[in-house]
Amino acid sequence: MPHSIAIDGPVGAGKSSVAKGVAQALGFPYLDTGAMYRALGLKVLRAGRDPKDEQAATWAAGNTTVNVRFEHGAQRTILDGEDVTEQLRTPQAGNAASGVAQWPAVRTLMLLAQREIANRTDMVLDGRDIGTNVLPNATLKIFLTACAQVRAQRRFDELIAAGNGVTYEGVLADLLARDKQDENRAADPLRQADDAVLVDTTNMSLDEVVGHVVGLYRERVGYKT
Ligand code: C5P
Repeated sequence: MPHSIAIDGPVGAGKSSVAKGVAQALGFPYLDTGAMYRALGLKVLRAGRDPKDEQAATWAAGNTTVNVRFEHGAQRTILDGEDVTEQLRTPQAGNAASGVAQWPAVRTLMLLAQREIANRTDMVLDGRDIGTNVLPNATLKIFLTACAQVRAQRRFDELIAAGNGVTYEGVLADLLARDKQDENRAADPLRQADDAVLVDTTNMSLDEVVGHVVGLYRERVGYKT
């Protein structure tokens, strides 16, 4: 079995930045599983249907292939053969992802696809249920968190840098709604795996968190410096 590092946690905890940094330090690819849910959410939006609707989400799960490709370590997300990577970072795609992610048919499709990808090679994955569900035997599980205000500020900065016209208040409200939806859904709600290491990033820099996680991984696999 290849090694895997599972990084789960709520919106804006720093999962993708940390996962990217850790992947780079170890020379592993990084799988952004949220992008796969976003692609499926995009499919439902394009069909003019409501991502929160179980029938629409289940229809999409049964009629869609979501795959990824790594180009120079960077993930491209492929929806039914079309590269949709550039269309996934909008708040609309995030909310659509959170909508479809509630439904069991969607979660099963994603779980199987993600396991298959993680079986190919050593990998860092981030998401909501990687440690609890997708890879229960991951080499290292991290649960990243930070206070809501800090998470909203980080997500706000990211969206502004990507050219989205948003307000801090709007981002905070979105984040709290998405946390609630992710924590309260019946199918695989967001929670910390019993054997995950909790890392609170509220007062830590990105480099500190990456260094900490890389250190934990090396300890885990018995790597000697
Ligand atoms: O991480 P990101 O913001 O891209 O995730 C979008 C949404 O996809 C999350 O709010 C969550 O509802 C869903 N998701 C999930 N399980 C994952 C990754 C994402 O349910 N492993």
